[in-house]
Amino acid sequence: MVQTSTGQPGRQDSQRQPDKHKPHAHHGHHGHTHHHHGSSSIGIAFFLNLSFTLIELVGGVLTNSLAILSDAVHDLGDCVALGLTWYLEKYSQKQRDAQYTYGYRRWSVAGAVISSLILLLGSVLILKEAIPRVLHPEPVLASGMIALACLGVFANGLAVLKLRDSHSPGEKAARLHLLEDVLGWIVVLVGAVVMWFTNWTWLDPVLSIAVSLFILRNVLINIKSFSRILLQAVPDGVDLDDLQRRIEAIPGVSAVHDLHIWTLDSSRHVLSLHVVIPAESSRADLLNIKYAAKDIIRNHGIAHDTLEMEYADEACQLECC
Ligand SMILES: [Zn+2]
Ligand SMILES: [Zn+2]
Ligand SMILES: [Zn+2]
Repeated sequence: MVQTSTGQPGRQDSQRQPDKHKPHAHHGHHGHTHHHHGSSSIGIAFFLNLSFTLIELVGGVLTNSLAILSDAVHDLGDCVALGLTWYLEKYSQKQRDAQYTYGYRRWSVAGAVISSLILLLGSVLILKEAIPRVLHPEPVLASGMIALACLGVFANGLAVLKLRDSHSPGEKAARLHLLEDVLGWIVVLVGAVVMWFTNWTWLDPVLSIAVSLFILRNVLINIKSFSRILLQAVPDGVDLDDLQRRIEAIPGVSAVHDLHIWTLDSSRHVLSLHVVIPAESSRADLLNIKYAAKDIIRNHGIAHDTLEMEYADEACQLECC
């Protein structure tokens, strides 16, 4: 007997099913519960980050330090990302409706696009200022830089400590990111101390360029990952060949074709597939094969599938078949 691993007792699909099958979980996501516990902590993180970023921006101008400003741009990007995540979260958790039949999960991708654009613009503007300044250094207020960098190390370090015991992939990524922020501020702190003793003011634009290039590198990585989502690439971690081979190996399956896998937001994947079975297959054969295929699909981490079951003697409507 074949049954889906995510079958929910008590839920009935609209189709009538023979007694030997449990209700399949095809539409199980309708009953999925969402957790909103992260929302308020994102809000707090957003306001802390925003006030800190404003201090750094003003401080960067007052100390005439591009290194401080480039770290401030980075934190501004974090602010925008946090704010959009906070704002879009309530949308991306919304269930499907008549206008957005997939739900609102793709909206989180819009947040990534906007914060990447801001980081890109901010870093390019800083680079435009910093590159000429390497040759014509301007005086900076090293003592003020030291104070601001200490604040940066302290504020971001505190956030890292807060996430110390977290284990979800999202929180781990956030902790890693904050760790990079701490390192960025430590670099500026060391540079400021050196400038305090030596008056090597060219160090400030050099550090600024280094920080900006690091930001741009991360922006490019982000652009690559959300482009893959928007371009309907097979999501990372899904083994297309293995999936196809396993479905073809189900007893009674003649062939499979027109396999598509894409992802809504890099965590919720969608699949569609045609499965060809011999013309003489019984209704029970068809259902067994369908549930076996759905089991394999679930085990590959795909939440939403659409299977077209085809008899070998019927003509597939698709030209590409
Ligand atoms: Zn269904
Ligand atoms: Zn950051
Ligand atoms: Zn077909």
